[in-house]
Amino acid sequence: MSRPARARIDLAALRHNYRLARTRHGGRTLAVIKADAYGHGAVCCAQALAGEADAFAVAVVEEALALRAAGIRHPILVLEGAFDRDDIAAAATHDLWLTVHQPAQIELLAHRTPTAPLQVWLKMDSGMHRAGIAPPDFAAAHARLSAIDGVRVAVLMSHFARADEPDCDATARQIATFDAAAGTLPGARSLCNSAGILGWPAAHRDWARAGIMLYGADPMPAGDAPLQPVMTLSSAIMGVRELAPGEALGYGGRFVAPRPTRVGLVAMGYADGYPRSAPDGTPVAVDGRLTRLIGRVSMDMLTVDLSDLPEVGIGAPVELWGPTVAVNAVAQAAGTIAYELLCNVKRVARQIDDTPPA
Ligand SMILES: *Cc1c(COP(=O)(O)O)cnc(C)c1O
Repeated sequence: MSRPARARIDLAALRHNYRLARTRHGGRTLAVIKADAYGHGAVCCAQALAGEADAFAVAVVEEALALRAAGIRHPILVLEGAFDRDDIAAAATHDLWLTVHQPAQIELLAHRTPTAPLQVWLKMDSGMHRAGIAPPDFAAAHARLSAIDGVRVAVLMSHFARADEPDCDATARQIATFDAAAGTLPGARSLCNSAGILGWPAAHRDWARAGIMLYGADPMPAGDAPLQPVMTLSSAIMGVRELAPGEALGYGGRFVAPRPTRVGLVAMGYADGYPRSAPDGTPVAVDGRLTRLIGRVSMDMLTVDLSDLPEVGIGAPVELWGPTVAVNAVAQAAGTIAYELLCNVKRVARQIDDTPPA
């Protein structure tokens, strides 16, 4: 018998979520599949969305080339842009769109050996203060890029720092800063990540950039968008034991049984991407019913409370996250975000479910 740890990927759910993103925003929508599609498999997600996505986005040129090698012909935006001349040459050869977010990238483009024409997305720092051209310099950057032979500024973009905080005025200020500095410069506009799509209609422009919501994790605190989870991280019970009151479980003896406690051992650990920071009480579903993690997560195993599930034995299915246990709930318990949990999934077998809708 092989180890039962799996990440099932539901491609029909991915398509559902993409359609929701596109409809909510209006206009065109990039499917952001950087970091191996947030741990879901970039090639398989791109193929699943090939019939509907307007374009894809990845972080770096290498990720885009892997998609090209797999036969993806859609436009692909490289969100970090070019690191060097090789990236620019590859972008021209493979017809990639490059983000330009630093003056040094403008110089790289200006001094490149002439290539096939290139389309760039020029990014403004409208208030996140991480990447992007400062608003007072934006028009000049636009002019300098547009003057480079073979370079066209197709889209003016910016990124939100706090769009997942509906009551914070930082996003409204970013929108105003962007609109003022972009003015009437030619080019389409793109402001929204998933939280912008779901929470900030005033930021909807020509292009959305949907990431986390494609995978079914709602970034807004209300969490009321009808998204479907794409990944189900699952395994099975591989051992059962009884703890007497006072007995400690696992590394560090973090959990001490307050009463007779039935413990299930699960084939899933932090080497698979399950967060070691998950505390006692983190939700887990066993045989379709909710219970809780107890004891510290090990590299290859973790332990769950089966005290209220006396009939559950070896081989019972365990869902770490998916339709029953929201990945957001695990992330919140573990003090992180769904993005990090999903990206970290590794070692487990990926099982692609591409059942067409009934
Ligand atoms: C990753 C990324 C996105 C997608 O963000 P989500 O919050 O996952 O929707 C959008 N824009 C940029 C620039 C990004 O780097």
